Amino acid sequence: MKISVLSRDDVCGTAILVEDKNKSILVDFGLKVHEEEEGVILGGALKDLRNIVSKIKGVFITHAHLDHTGALPLLCKWGYDGFIYSTEPTRPLTKRLLLNSVKVSRNKPFFTVRDILVARERMRAVRFFEEVDLSGIKVIFYSSEHIIGSAMVFIKGEKRVLITSDFKWEKTMLHHGVQSKIAGSLIYEELERCDLMIMESSYGNKRLQGLKELTLKLSKEISSTVDKGGTVLIVTGAINKPAEVALMIKRGVEKNIIPKHIKVYIDGLAAKFYDMLITFRRFTRVKNSRVLSRAVKKVSLEEREELISNNEPKVIISSGEYLGGTTSLYYFKKLAQDPKNTIIFASSNIPEGTLAHTIVYGKQHRVFIEGDSVRINARVVTIPISLHSDYRGLVQFVKLIKPKKLVLIHGSKESKEFLARYLKNYDPVIASEVRLKI
Ligand SMILES: [Zn+2]
Repeated sequence: MKISVLSRDDVCGTAILVEDKNKSILVDFGLKVHEEEEGVILGGALKDLRNIVSKIKGVFITHAHLDHTGALPLLCKWGYDGFIYSTEPTRPLTKRLLLNSVKVSRNKPFFTVRDILVARERMRAVRFFEEVDLSGIKVIFYSSEHIIGSAMVFIKGEKRVLITSDFKWEKTMLHHGVQSKIAGSLIYEELERCDLMIMESSYGNKRLQGLKELTLKLSKEISSTVDKGGTVLIVTGAINKPAEVALMIKRGVEKNIIPKHIKVYIDGLAAKFYDMLITFRRFTRVKNSRVLSRAVKKVSLEEREELISNNEPKVIISSGEYLGGTTSLYYFKKLAQDPKNTIIFASSNIPEGTLAHTIVYGKQHRVFIEGDSVRINARVVTIPISLHSDYRGLVQFVKLIKPKKLVLIHGSKESKEFLARYLKNYDPVIASEVRLKI
């Protein structure tokens, strides 16, 4: 069996080619394509993929995030005519994220809306634990508890390979966490002592705060802002985090930290994904749709002005993470100038080059947005909510599975090196491009 990790870490995407019994399967094909030119991003090994597209018998997508799906339309444009397997929620989420990536693209995207629709047509839903048999190679999805519908991929051919993709070890508001999914579960015994495990390492050098700590921190920020008569703006990712935040606020109210009369609003792409999340709630640990639907109120375009100007105590959850979207920018411009308000970035990692990074780490008191000067008088806070595992969770998972060979991907050099120190017995491969035979 031949395994090639095709993507480089510096292009922030995952693509893994598995060749076995003269057949190839591809797991994920992600690149943040809208930020780069085709020629720049498709260097090295990825270019080779174009030549062997006809040999690929199946494509498996672990979850909808663009660093795992962003180049899927390109695969179809190159002539891939097989199925793209994923869990049920991943299909509509992927389509919407891809369409949005074309819409917000700074460069000319190298695929069209039509290519996205072709890719969506090829997508087939697979249940967790269901075996997809590609004439001898069996592929099974296990829940990775990262976002709604996210999965690990287990491949059984000549050898057994586990690709973890992004996973959350600990419990969150929406998911049980891989830790509790494994505890007492016989299903996971099959993964033990697999021949190869390819594991993510995004937060391999970080110790993340737990759910209780984060809920308390968030609740206190909201409470003190409301006491001053201010508004809280929470800027988050679009899929899971808005619901995570909304349910944390609900918990804060139940614990009497946040006043009961607070209103929680949601706007932007986050509001659209929130509806999908309610539809697919059986993939979360929140089974009652009313718990989710009552936690937030959607804002229409016409209601925005009135919402900003009224004095009711409120929290506004907006997508457009790191202030990279029109909705979060709109609210930021309106709310940043008032010292009574608080702006919360609900992220554990704010990338360099984003406006949020400039504000949080550059300690800027004035920024220019679309030509307008915006003075920042509001309190600016980060609440490091993460849907990844920290080094403790990653190490525990490896020790539980005890793979015969371990490859670390999807993380910085520092992150992999830090993690490798805790996993010396497994002698992990930490190179940025990996091709190996097992
Ligand atoms: Zn992800």
